[in-house]
Amino acid sequence: RDTKPAGDFGRHGDDAVDLATRHLIQPWPVAGSAGAEARALIGEGDGIHITDGDGKRLIDGPAGMWCINVGHRREELARVMYEQAMQLSYNTPWYTMNAPSAELARRIADHAPGDLSHVFYTTGGSSAVETALRFMQFTNNVRGRREKKLILSRGGAYHGSTYLSASLNGRPRDRDWMDGADGLVVKLTAPNPFRRPARVSRKTFADFLVEEFRQTVEEIGAERIGAFVGEPIQASGGVIVPPDGYLKRIREICRANDILYVSDEVVTAFGRLGHVFASGEVFGLDPDMITFAKGVTSGYFPLGGVVISGRLLEELRKSNHPDAMFAHGLTYTSHPVGCAVALKNLDLLEDGILAHAREVAPYFQTQLKTLEALPLVGEVRGMGLMACVECVADRDSNNPLELDNAVGKRIDRHCHELGLLVRPLINMCVMSPPLIITCEQIDTMVAILREGISRTMDDLRKEGVW
Ligand code: PMP
Repeated sequence: RDTKPAGDFGRHGDDAVDLATRHLIQPWPVAGSAGAEARALIGEGDGIHITDGDGKRLIDGPAGMWCINVGHRREELARVMYEQAMQLSYNTPWYTMNAPSAELARRIADHAPGDLSHVFYTTGGSSAVETALRFMQFTNNVRGRREKKLILSRGGAYHGSTYLSASLNGRPRDRDWMDGADGLVVKLTAPNPFRRPARVSRKTFADFLVEEFRQTVEEIGAERIGAFVGEPIQASGGVIVPPDGYLKRIREICRANDILYVSDEVVTAFGRLGHVFASGEVFGLDPDMITFAKGVTSGYFPLGGVVISGRLLEELRKSNHPDAMFAHGLTYTSHPVGCAVALKNLDLLEDGILAHAREVAPYFQTQLKTLEALPLVGEVRGMGLMACVECVADRDSNNPLELDNAVGKRIDRHCHELGLLVRPLINMCVMSPPLIITCEQIDTMVAILREGISRTMDDLRKEGVW
């Protein structure tokens, strides 16, 4: 196979890094370098590895962005995209349809918990969350409950970068400089056991969260609350695994108050926790809607969607407003190439990768857990093939390090040198490798992380900031 240098895409011999600093706006930029920033150039991917602009091979620790679940350079996926594009590259979903989208909807419904039987496709996770919320607004309007529209969300949440989905976000810093539809959203405490008050047990903390939820519903009034949106594990908030039983108790309060429970599985679906959906199989939940994206195509094509309860659609069909229109649809809803690659990706997951992910996950978690021996590490937590190493200044009080120390970024820099890409998040590093990772590769990953963290500790000591 011919390989070309990573930067060799400029038509006039221009260097990609130079072009980026003059013409490209990176996602999540800061004002001081907006439109003038280059990031590590990646030239190619293969299995769990990527190669950077200098030809250096790295383990893709975050699997792109929690998405390259079956690994890079899967010929089966490339081929199916080519074949589908040659047969039918696009059809308008406004008044036509294609077969792959219908077939994929059936297979997704087969895996979904409870009565989730119908799929609406989007272009990614933000548009999936947006779709779920607009659907909630629509059904409540049709059912004559125009006041029932508020959305409950939580600290630590990440649900997207479109206006309404971003309004649900609850991570520190995300909203410092950004507006949001605040009148529509009510935020609850992050279900983060690591940050629970001192001397409070996990069980008592769970009781507090549930009681806060119940009281909020009571104070606002269920007749004004349309939906709760929650990730089963808050991913971009730092892989926050909630206390046992808490999600099920929230689900019951939602059911009792006719509040739609939207489980945001953009990260956790399609194998990250060893199952196609985690809501039912891992957490025993039967949500009213599940949002998905990322792993549905292992990142090979931008696709997302919402799985919706058949009961909600039946209620619509029986309503007194048969002509009421759900005025919502994207040009690329039900994209044939996206759905075709998703079908093949699901074959790969079902034919062994899900089982493999379940098999290696305990090893992944226990090996990473050994990093807690390092004095900079406050906690290593996770589930399945997602984990977070959280660094603290002082283990007794669990104080996070000053943001300015950007500890995550420092660890990332050292690890990059050593052959591992990690995802830095303020004082944390997130790991979510491709699901095909082997135990031997896990050993390499953990060894590099250990060395990267040790080097960071040396730097911090030398600078006198730790
Ligand atoms: N929901 C969750 C839980 C996510 O992690 C993300 C993206 N990281 C989104 C929604 C938004 O997805 P996208 O970036 O594909 O729009």
